Amino acid sequence: MLALCGIAALGTLLFDTVIYKSQVPTLQPLAMSAIKPAAPNTENAALEQTIESTQPPEPEFVFNRDASVTADPVDSGKGVPFVEVPEIDSLIDLSDVPVAAFTNPAPLTAARPEHANDYRREPSQILVKIEKGDSLFGVLTKHGLDQHEIANLTNKPLVGKYLTNLRPGDEIELDFDGSHRLTGLTREINLEKTLYITRAADNQFNTELGEQPLEKQIQVVEFKLDSSLSVDGAAAGLSESMIMELYSIFQWTVDFNREVRIGDQVTVLHESFIKNGKKVKNGNILAAEYRASDTTYSAYRHVRNGQRTYFDADGQSLKKQFLRNPIKARITSRFNPARKHPILNTTRPHKGVDYGAPTGTSISAAGDGRVVFMGTKGSYGKAVEIQHSDRYTTLYAHLSRFPKKLKKGSRVSQGQIIGYVGQTGTATGPNLHYEFRVDGLHYDPQKAKLPGSSPLEKSELIVFKQNIEPLRAQLASLRADSETLAMR
Ligand SMILES: [Zn+2]
Repeated sequence: MLALCGIAALGTLLFDTVIYKSQVPTLQPLAMSAIKPAAPNTENAALEQTIESTQPPEPEFVFNRDASVTADPVDSGKGVPFVEVPEIDSLIDLSDVPVAAFTNPAPLTAARPEHANDYRREPSQILVKIEKGDSLFGVLTKHGLDQHEIANLTNKPLVGKYLTNLRPGDEIELDFDGSHRLTGLTREINLEKTLYITRAADNQFNTELGEQPLEKQIQVVEFKLDSSLSVDGAAAGLSESMIMELYSIFQWTVDFNREVRIGDQVTVLHESFIKNGKKVKNGNILAAEYRASDTTYSAYRHVRNGQRTYFDADGQSLKKQFLRNPIKARITSRFNPARKHPILNTTRPHKGVDYGAPTGTSISAAGDGRVVFMGTKGSYGKAVEIQHSDRYTTLYAHLSRFPKKLKKGSRVSQGQIIGYVGQTGTATGPNLHYEFRVDGLHYDPQKAKLPGSSPLEKSELIVFKQNIEPLRAQLASLRADSETLAMR
């Protein structure tokens, strides 16, 4: 069910993109984040109309205009010493000025004298910022409401639900008429919900909840690798969590642990949520492309069994049964079956990969499996060994400690924390020694061919391909544009 929901949601979103692409077939700018205008969403438009109609009408206030600001534009030169400027006169064409402007000049003394300059008599709007210790009752009392009115207002169910839980920093907008009588109260509950309270003709308060779903758009971020995915991604406008997501999407296909691949191109299509024309938050990465000089890897988001996974355009999972690196850290010593001992000059193979990291850095299970060893083991120090299937085992050594709930026999899933970096056993500094074995033989976890996760089933694949088509087309068009630019 969850998977179906995911597909449906993606489908709706993709539909927007299709329309967008056909409407704006312009070149995409390179190396910048650009918010794409979304196609009009009929559903949203209908909802917006509903909201508009539920919003309180503009109060009809009589503004007490200061007479001195009103001037007759035509006669403004009266009384000023005449200076002959024929050139300017000839430039002014009065033929379009409405006749009314001549026959009905704005009165110079419109305001009644007793109210002139009496700003207290004007309707006002006050934005109240809730401070520590403030309550709704306190705020309303402070702004002149009597107990009877406050009771009238606070016994409304919506008020009880959405106005009594005020926290410091919250804002309430209060509207008053010229007699400083409360005519309205507005509170933005969250990005999508606003509470409106208005005084009706019968003097009672009406409460209404306005719901305004955020407008979802697809944002394009493109950048070239110059120093690292983190640095360049952040400079291009990606949030930290989106950068981590990118690392995790491409962890099996791109070795970010090796030296930076300068010049490689990254393209990200992600959701962004718009309110009143402004981006208010980021959403999921829907598609991403990593382009090296010789290969291009693309990834499309798909929800399967309630879990989001990224697949390539053919429906093959980018995810493998094992993580390349069970820790986010730098490799300090690689797998080397012929390593010479620096002092003894004898062959001392290094049967794993070492990652240098501060003590306490968390270590993840490389794949789903079961803990078959947890304890201290000679030069390994504190270590965990996981059996993944009949053929695969992984080992994590020199740990400082284990997670509290983990024990021998525990089932673990890929990415789950199974220990913390330490310096136990034979280790010159805090590091993780990681081993990957197939049928009992050690392999380089950086290079070993990893078993893939199961690809999409036929029926799911059809839906997946339909859903990703607009994203695939957009990525292809962006790629073509940047290649054209590169050739110039
Ligand atoms: Zn080692």
